[in-house]
Amino acid sequence: MSNSVIYLDNNATTAVAPEVFEAMKPFLTTEYANASSIYPFASEPLHAIAKARGQMASLLGCTPEEVIFTSCGSESDNAALRSAVKTQTGRRRILTTAVEHPAILNTCRDLVKYAGIHVDYLSVDKFGRIDLDEAKALISEDTALVSVMFANNEIGNLYPIRELSRLAHAKGALFHTDAVQAIGKVKIDLANDLKDVDFLSLSGHKFHAPKGIGVLFKRRFAPFAPYLTGGHQEHQLRAGTENVAYIAGLGKAAELAAINLEEENTRVKALRDKLQDGLLATCPDAAVNGDLEHRLPNTVNIGFKYIEGEAILLRLWDRAHICASSGSACTTGSLEPSHVLRALGLDYKSLHGSIRFSLSHYNTEDEIDRVLEVVPPVIRNLRDLSPFGRITG
Ligand code: PLP
Repeated sequence: MSNSVIYLDNNATTAVAPEVFEAMKPFLTTEYANASSIYPFASEPLHAIAKARGQMASLLGCTPEEVIFTSCGSESDNAALRSAVKTQTGRRRILTTAVEHPAILNTCRDLVKYAGIHVDYLSVDKFGRIDLDEAKALISEDTALVSVMFANNEIGNLYPIRELSRLAHAKGALFHTDAVQAIGKVKIDLANDLKDVDFLSLSGHKFHAPKGIGVLFKRRFAPFAPYLTGGHQEHQLRAGTENVAYIAGLGKAAELAAINLEEENTRVKALRDKLQDGLLATCPDAAVNGDLEHRLPNTVNIGFKYIEGEAILLRLWDRAHICASSGSACTTGSLEPSHVLRALGLDYKSLHGSIRFSLSHYNTEDEIDRVLEVVPPVIRNLRDLSPFGRITG
């Protein structure tokens, strides 16, 4: 990690942990055999995959056989949604929310266009919360799948997955959750707490494994039609020669996540709270976007009224090499305000000046102190320049 950068964009991606890199190295150098080969040279890669499957299963509270390695969170989401449409014959609807990641929203759009599926979207209130009664009313005998994210990438809201998955099962629908942002930040217990979850998506690069590796949890006996067909890998559930190095790294990251979970909810959360309280105290006309009660411990999204998020980000980089985000990384390059903030019904003045700070295990108190020093004058200065800022003083 570069010392000069204050990296507060961990919901976009995270640094690979040094321990993860070490776990990967042998499989990028000497242990390069194809794990499916029959000679003893393949035994190390084979063993590494089995070990990682076990490490991941113990983080999630599932069995190793329920862990399918994929190439990313987006692939896992695609696999769950597209499979449900194929296996739930006779059911033609999907229920999801208006605030999902594009990996879900665009897959839904694709299924509407090419598979004749109807998609219902749960609305959210001004804090980004969903209403369980609305969910109950929208799940029917025609619902193939309910897919609701575990945690929102932009505002950090946590959703009532246990209750929603029960509602889905009560009507015979399958249940999937995109837990890409939740892994390593909050406890996920598929054995006890979340028994009604059939599918769950994960991505390595959000919890200190590399980009380009993911997991689809598929509960035993849940009907599944593979998304990638071909060879016999992953118990014939996901074809493609195993990416052994990345799988080994993901396993190590899962082991570290279990160890660091407590710290995430104490030290990292305290740093997030210090940042949030400090900014709200020093920047007038600023408010937190999202649900203060049910939120990821590492995330705060703050709307600074009357200024542009992109301008704030550029100044933060120029002044102190601070990395944060205005909307999700996937929408960077588009001038459209984020669909999540729009779903909250924020007014125009807050919509454009919203910044997400997302912390990790590697952030320090000194970094937060520095951010608290740098942000308020940046906001003041931009407001002085902004026509909106001048009108309101
Ligand atoms: N789902 C959520 C909630 C995410 O935040 C992301 C990435 O930002 C994804 C899915 C996609 O994951 P990946 O980048 O591994 O495809």
